[in-house]
Amino acid sequence: MNSLFLEPTEEDRQTQNCKVHKGCPLIFYEVQQRASHSPIVCAKCVTQNDLQGRNLMIIEEILNCNDNSVFQNWPIIEDKSILTEYKNILEQADLRKCPITILDQYFDNLQQKIIEKISQCKKKIYVDIDNLFITRDGIKDIYNNVSQKNYFRELTQDFKNGEEESFIKIQQLIQDVNNKCKENSQTLTKAYNFYKNSEFALQLQIPNLYMEDMLNIINQLQDWFLKGFQVDSSTQFQRKKYDYNDTIKEILSLVNNPTNFCKDSFLKKLEICLQKVGPALPRIEPNSYLKEGKERLDFTVLQEEQFQIYEKSIRNIMNIENQIKKISEDKVKNSEIFENVDVLQKEIQSNLKQFYFLSQRQFTEIKQKNKFEIDLTYKCSFQKSKQDGFSQSHQKIERNAQNILEITTKDSGWNVQSHYDTLINPFTKYRIVVQLEPYSSFQQSYEFNIGIQKEKSCNNQWVSSSPYFFSNTSDCKFEHATKGLALCNTQIKHDKKMRQLEFQMCISEKHFLIADYPEYSNVTTATEEQLNDLDQSKNYKLGIEIKSIQKVKILKFLEVSSFPTIQ
Ligand SMILES: [Zn+2]
Repeated sequence: MNSLFLEPTEEDRQTQNCKVHKGCPLIFYEVQQRASHSPIVCAKCVTQNDLQGRNLMIIEEILNCNDNSVFQNWPIIEDKSILTEYKNILEQADLRKCPITILDQYFDNLQQKIIEKISQCKKKIYVDIDNLFITRDGIKDIYNNVSQKNYFRELTQDFKNGEEESFIKIQQLIQDVNNKCKENSQTLTKAYNFYKNSEFALQLQIPNLYMEDMLNIINQLQDWFLKGFQVDSSTQFQRKKYDYNDTIKEILSLVNNPTNFCKDSFLKKLEICLQKVGPALPRIEPNSYLKEGKERLDFTVLQEEQFQIYEKSIRNIMNIENQIKKISEDKVKNSEIFENVDVLQKEIQSNLKQFYFLSQRQFTEIKQKNKFEIDLTYKCSFQKSKQDGFSQSHQKIERNAQNILEITTKDSGWNVQSHYDTLINPFTKYRIVVQLEPYSSFQQSYEFNIGIQKEKSCNNQWVSSSPYFFSNTSDCKFEHATKGLALCNTQIKHDKKMRQLEFQMCISEKHFLIADYPEYSNVTTATEEQLNDLDQSKNYKLGIEIKSIQKVKILKFLEVSSFPTIQ
């Protein structure tokens, strides 16, 4: 075994010499130990074993350490840099860092500053005190002055004593006072308001709120010390100047909404009251008092017309109530009352319809502001018309294996018609793509009509008798070609290209168009005059009337925010 690895003997320790290097004093501890290696070493051990200085401690230094000494590499820890920090702290002799000394200074300073500030504040107010407040004596002076009370009494005394001149003087005084009526009214009113304001101020409600605020700030200071030096999230050192006028506006707008029927005079009074307590309002955040999860009503979105309709309906309902009361009083013939109630009820229904119509318009406007496309291709449904027996018996409407809606006919010889089962929303933009598959022997004679009809005509008239439809026959109403040829033009009306068609419609925008899809090489539209009589408040349905076409496929059925541009 190599002697290097031997433990030092008792003798070595006593002589404090290295066991390996005779005569060499042991001067270091190697504290970060390497395996099976004596931790007490001499200078030669260091060089021979290439020991690292950062792992060594000088024995002499340990002997000389005092209460504040910190060793750079003792105890053994993960990150020695913290020992340097300890050294810095313990080896500086600064008595000022005693907490009580420092806090005493701080609180003395705070107390002194607060007292100074309060005394300055008081002085400034007192200097101006006569302009800020009016007392009972002040009010008395103003009254005595304006009323000329003493003079009036003197004259009256003279009058009593029979002095002749006094009579004229009294007359003069009465006239003077009458002349100064307006001026005196203003003076007295002004002083009275001043007095009321003074009185309000002297109740000290607002100053007490300020006091509470100040004391709260001291609580926050205390909490900062007591709760681990964390600044409370509600604390704002750079206090944003709070404009209480915003809060007042907010409260007024909440009170003054069209459903509250507030009079302007009431709102004015409320505003004056709120202005008085304005400085206290930062303590109220109106938004935090609104119910969570409720949408705020934006009354600017609702239209005046809608309120009128509601008001009208409410009036009618009250009328109905009155009529019913009359029945129990039995003063009028009951049949008359029932008639009245009937009329009122009908009016309510028509009001509600109008209201619905207005809401629908708003909803559509909002939809149109945001680009969208609602694809109803796989959801739309069509119904057979009851216009005639063949539409019922010779027509089948169902979805194929690809979930495409198909209108098929049993026979080539009869006209049949069907309708989109939902009422047309006059504000919606529709794009419908259809594919026509005529019977083989009618390739050059099939008939296709698409357009709108009043709802009530759907089951007793053909689409082709409506004023609003496209057709590949000479019956067509809309035949204005804006590009290429019109659908009813004999050159193209049975063209293979014209068997896949896009129909576009928006009643409120008076837009009706049909074109071959997707090329749009032949585009037919309705002219403005043709749509003059179109009444968008009426209910319309979309209808398809066909003859000699075996199958119409509804390839696309879309509601869009805008129609595609056709080049
Ligand atoms: Zn040695």
